[in-house]
Amino acid sequence: MTQQTPSKAAYRRIATEEAFAPREMIDIYRRMTADKVIDDPGFNSMWSFYLSGSSARGRFIIDGLTDMEHQRIAHMDAAGIDMQVLSLTSPGVQIMDRAEAVSFAGQSNDWLADAISRHPTRLAGLAAVAPQDPQAAAREIQRGVTELGLKGVIINSHTHGEYLSDPKFWDIFEAAQALDVPIYLHPMTPPKNMIEPLLECGLDGAIFGFGMETGMHALRIITAGVFDRFPKLQMILGHMGEALPFWMFRLDYMHAATVRSERYDSMRPLQRKPSDYLKQNFHITNSGMAWEPAVKFTQEQIGVDRVMYAMDYPYQYDPAEVIALDAMDISDEAKKKFFETNATRLFKLD
Ligand code: MN
Repeated sequence: MTQQTPSKAAYRRIATEEAFAPREMIDIYRRMTADKVIDDPGFNSMWSFYLSGSSARGRFIIDGLTDMEHQRIAHMDAAGIDMQVLSLTSPGVQIMDRAEAVSFAGQSNDWLADAISRHPTRLAGLAAVAPQDPQAAAREIQRGVTELGLKGVIINSHTHGEYLSDPKFWDIFEAAQALDVPIYLHPMTPPKNMIEPLLECGLDGAIFGFGMETGMHALRIITAGVFDRFPKLQMILGHMGEALPFWMFRLDYMHAATVRSERYDSMRPLQRKPSDYLKQNFHITNSGMAWEPAVKFTQEQIGVDRVMYAMDYPYQYDPAEVIALDAMDISDEAKKKFFETNATRLFKLD
């Protein structure tokens, strides 16, 4: 890791997929992994590793997630980050049982709002919710936005193998659309019925499995007709859109062909093409993908107003990446949108 700090820029750098965890949640995960209370091989494998303390990376991540004060702000300063938009780290409350998830989501949002109140110019945050209870989740979105000043919603992909394409979850979409706040669809480890061939070769995590599972989740939401029902809803995908921008041609072509074939009851005609929803109902962040060609391609195809900066702290912390993105060969106007104004507009930041 370089020690070089990015220089002052003509824009504020707002990082939009940054993680935190209250110490109490780390303790819950420690208990859950020790007792294997959930039959979820991805969660048990990943969190046993981080919590074992056996690697410098694991220790850095746990420290970075739980510190909301000096270390976090110092790392932001060292990387030239003016503001972090914080999310409860994956899988958040979604791995818990229903009652604990509902209760802990509220506690965590209170804790986050408290930290933001101590650093109002440096931190903003998204509300965690428990999809296990969609009506309680909708109420928590309302409370988080109107009472705690949170700027959107974090959903860490599937909940015990269930996907938001199921209409039983759609109160969550209704609440977000009504309050005009975005939902960040963030990865978690693939569910038990998907993970085995990934886990056995080490591809289950951020290297590939996260993107595969979360990209599929976003496609399920699109093909289920969520955006025909909630046309103003905005969602966010990290990691350069979990590769979906690169797939748009094939998604449109094969969606039309599959609908025509009438092979699946679950794939019905939509009002727009899959790529239209990606261009009109999604924003994309470059978390974990400090790669100029991918940023440019996505700006060109999805829109320069829809691609935002993210670092993915503390999982990815590298000031050199900021320096590389500062140097991208794009217009000053496009760079300011990327680092600052797309985020201030979408999240209604000060
Ligand atoms: Mn992340």
